[in-house]
Amino acid sequence: MAERSLRGMSIGAKSLESDENVDFAPRREVAYVCPNGHRTILPLAEGADAPDEWECRCGQVARLEGQDDNDQGDANSKAIRTHWDMLIERRSEDELKTVLDKRLKMHREGWFPDYE
Ligand SMILES: [Zn+2]
Repeated sequence: MAERSLRGMSIGAKSLESDENVDFAPRREVAYVCPNGHRTILPLAEGADAPDEWECRCGQVARLEGQDDNDQGDANSKAIRTHWDMLIERRSEDELKTVLDKRLKMHREGWFPDYE
């Protein structure tokens, strides 16, 4: 009797692990590259925001591939949480002023010829 119910549980547990009847949500893959050149592919649910940074297996912070510091004009990204949003979370307003001044100076001096 006890043996029988145990066997039943085992079968039930197995069927839960099976991939059958699992409806996979639409996915996209984003790639992260760390300073050591490791590439990490991260599958995300469609519509989910990709974090800008991901911790690489080597412990370094990997950056979202194809994203640079001058991508603020990227109209394709669903910028719900932008670089700017993260920036102002991390820095005080005074610090930001300094950064902005530096940034504007760089623009004026033509550091970003392709930037629009
Ligand atoms: Zn790495």
